[in-house]
Amino acid sequence: MAYDYDLIVIGAGSGGVRAARMSALAGAKVAIVEEYRYGGTCVIRGCVPKKLMVYASAFAESFEDAKGYGWTVGESRFSWPDFMAAKDREIARLEGIYARNLGAAGVELHRARGVVTGPHSVRLSSHDKDLTAKHILVATGGAPFVPDVPGACHAMTSNEVFELPEMPKRIVIVGGGYIACEFAGVLNGMGAKVVQLYRGERILRGFDGEVAGFVQAEMIKKGVEIRVESDVAAIGDPTESGLAVELTSGETIETDAVLYATGRHPNARGIGLEEAGVKLGAKGEVVVDEYSRTSVPSIWAIGDVTDRVALTPVAIREGAAFAKSVFEGELTAADHELIPTAVFTQPEIGTCGMTEEAARETHDIEVYAADFRPMMHTMSGRDERMLMKLLVDKATRKVLGCHLVGHGAGEMIQLAGIALKMGATKEDFDRTVAVHPTAAEELVTMK
Ligand code: NDP
Repeated sequence: MAYDYDLIVIGAGSGGVRAARMSALAGAKVAIVEEYRYGGTCVIRGCVPKKLMVYASAFAESFEDAKGYGWTVGESRFSWPDFMAAKDREIARLEGIYARNLGAAGVELHRARGVVTGPHSVRLSSHDKDLTAKHILVATGGAPFVPDVPGACHAMTSNEVFELPEMPKRIVIVGGGYIACEFAGVLNGMGAKVVQLYRGERILRGFDGEVAGFVQAEMIKKGVEIRVESDVAAIGDPTESGLAVELTSGETIETDAVLYATGRHPNARGIGLEEAGVKLGAKGEVVVDEYSRTSVPSIWAIGDVTDRVALTPVAIREGAAFAKSVFEGELTAADHELIPTAVFTQPEIGTCGMTEEAARETHDIEVYAADFRPMMHTMSGRDERMLMKLLVDKATRKVLGCHLVGHGAGEMIQLAGIALKMGATKEDFDRTVAVHPTAAEELVTMK
């Protein structure tokens, strides 16, 4: 049977774009269907604008630190509108690059909502048009989840925070995960009064416990008011004095804005998947095997919609593996082992491998840790510390986990991740000569 395309990709985020380009470069006739903007969550309202905000907010401390090094710093002021305009220009530039690269690879772009209407057909719902393809790849990502709390309609999510015309002077952030902690740092650095509410005992559940506790303590030192075992009961209607957030404890907090960062859900419903026979899991995710195949042989899925590891570089790897499997004749699975990752909290986290808690359950381990004041702050006077931690399997001497907190942790963990991936032992770390004077040298000098 003749199809319009070899492949239709639904969703032009990081994973979908990589799969579309690689498939086209392998000779496939490819269409990509996207209802919003090219680049997906990461580029448009996620990692990239967030990192720009982290840079912007960190200047406040740098101006202060400069004084310890002999600088006289004049009056400094932050303009949210100026920053937002510059950020929007940068995101538009990146979106243009995505669209151009797709076009240059020969991928046809359809600006529409795509709905699967069968194993080989996709309806462009806004255009009243059907396209057919031998293969369909679902790469529709995820969307913020907001719990059903009275008045939650007055709150925003990470989608809206990137579009705010003005910076809220006071904000309540709900959640203790990646997004809540990153935005608490960003907005605190920009001068907002931040109250972060977390329902559990300690933020960043799932991370190494010592790392999570360390980051929580450093965030509090920087001025974020973190309230643990605390949750929202209701949010009142907006008044002249702002929003009244009623806590489950009965206390009320007055604020200008509420940001919910309580997780993300896969975008798998309402796009015809179940009707076409694609199996969804308990969290509404598309169920796939290690090669990203769904329960319908012609339909594949990658990235956040599959709820495996919700990280941009993982979706990109899954997209590349898909193209190789389908259009280069080599069935390939993306490798989900030992993924190094960073959280751009302030201070930042870099992590790879097992947490101490997980490692202790399965291995007899040695823990090497260093908690120190970085050289930079001996003269800046800032009371900020760094934490570095290696978890070593006593039997094989392999480093099972590496956890870093502090300036540059995200950069450092990329390289430490290579060592872990290669199966480096503690002795391999030890026989590597230290780079002096750096913070990273602690990694090879821990006793
Ligand atoms: P996370 O899953 O990281 O955190 C969700 C937080 O919300 C948790 O603290 C959770 O509490 C809390 N929560 C969940 N449901 C409720 C509820 N009903 N009421 C109150 N609190 C609730 O999600 P995020 O939204 O922060 O981020 C989504 C994903 O995006 C991440 O998992 C990550 O993969 C990705 N991401 C990655 C980044 C990076 O790599 N730097 C940056 C930003 C996002 P509890 O712990 O008790 O479950």
